[in-house]
Amino acid sequence: MQDKISNDHLTRTQDKEFAFTKMITCGLCGSGITADEKFKKLKDGTTNRYVYYGCTKFKDKDCPCGYIREEDLIEQLAMVLDTISLDEIGMKDRIRTEIESHNEFQESVLGREVKEKVKIKEVDIRNYAKHILRKRPLYEKRELLSHLRSKLILKEKQLSLVS
Ligand SMILES: [Zn+2]
Repeated sequence: MQDKISNDHLTRTQDKEFAFTKMITCGLCGSGITADEKFKKLKDGTTNRYVYYGCTKFKDKDCPCGYIREEDLIEQLAMVLDTISLDEIGMKDRIRTEIESHNEFQESVLGREVKEKVKIKEVDIRNYAKHILRKRPLYEKRELLSHLRSKLILKEKQLSLVS
């Protein structure tokens, strides 16, 4: 019984909630990417949380990959989403459905008129995908990335897609 409790505790602490670790590979040595959090006390007494991503150095213990802030990573991911074809975003049908139901909500609940039944444009789908990256809960971010058709690599603090 005692063992079971400590094991549970171990799994929980090891499984910290970082959104983007499993979908990205180090472009220098091919290891996975891990994340770490740092807390910084601000002058007004509040604490800021910073998340950094970098190589696990599993395959090369001297890998010079370096670290990148989560905010930077998200903005780079957003740029990647701007450059890839919509078919690469595996969730585009679901995103389209979500935008449609959002529009219906605007119409029927808020009484706003959504300009006829405008066809949902590519740019809307891209923007919604970026919205998920920036604002939606962790599991949705992960889901979005797990549906990308290409692999992501991080090399010299630059994120790119492997074709
Ligand atoms: Zn590496």
